[in-house]
Amino acid sequence: LANASATEDLPPGFTPSAAGVKGDKFEFQSDNKKVLDIVINSVYKSKEIFLRELVSNAADALDKIRFQSLTKPDILGDQPDLDIRIVADKERKLLVITDTGIGMNADELKKNLGTIARSGTSEFVSLLENKNADLNMIGQFGVGFYSVFLVCDRVTVASKSNDSPHQMIWESTSENDFTIGVDPRGDTLKRGTEITLHIKDEALEFLEETRLGGLIQKYSEFITFPIYLWTSKA
Ligand code: ADP
Ligand code: MG
Repeated sequence: LANASATEDLPPGFTPSAAGVKGDKFEFQSDNKKVLDIVINSVYKSKEIFLRELVSNAADALDKIRFQSLTKPDILGDQPDLDIRIVADKERKLLVITDTGIGMNADELKKNLGTIARSGTSEFVSLLENKNADLNMIGQFGVGFYSVFLVCDRVTVASKSNDSPHQMIWESTSENDFTIGVDPRGDTLKRGTEITLHIKDEALEFLEETRLGGLIQKYSEFITFPIYLWTSKA
């Protein structure tokens, strides 16, 4: 791997977020619902694009904190490493992508991943409905994150930004709504975002080291942060 390294077995102390966190429920904005509905029910073959979207979001978040740190070095605090970590846990069928980027507080989780309409999203929906667009273009319409539903049926996002008092959890299992609550594990991240995908049975290939390694190599060409990969043996 170019700027990445792979390790067999899970990182020490690996404690994935438990599914079904307690919290407040919110509805997705209506255009977001439409995109989610299309993604969730899609038979699109190139499901691998979800990893490109997650790696690019992680790199964007890392760029933001790195930029802030140029004028305020203290901002990095006790989390000076700027990197992306990917863990594949075959036993629990989880793929976890963690970055030490800028993170999101509760309000940002709610807006950025759910309630804010992005310009272009409704256009993307009509292009998809008329078969004039492909799901591969999802990232160009400001809703790339939702491509995770190509490979998972539950996504859990834990995030900690410097201005949030607690690490928060955002979770969704459908195109209708999502939940936001305090992470019962505490502030495990210090700063950044951890995205846990509960991989569907038909997408278990994305827990295999060779498959993941190949994709990371492909999508990390222009990523300037190190990417580390762990895959469990069995
Ligand atoms: P886009 O990246 O085009 O803005 P996405 O659907 O991929 O659209 O992501 C939506 C928003 O969610 C991002 O703009 C960002 O504000 C937030 N976001 C997603 N992933 C992360 C992350 N790993 N760290 C911080 N913010 C994130
Ligand atoms: Mg994106």
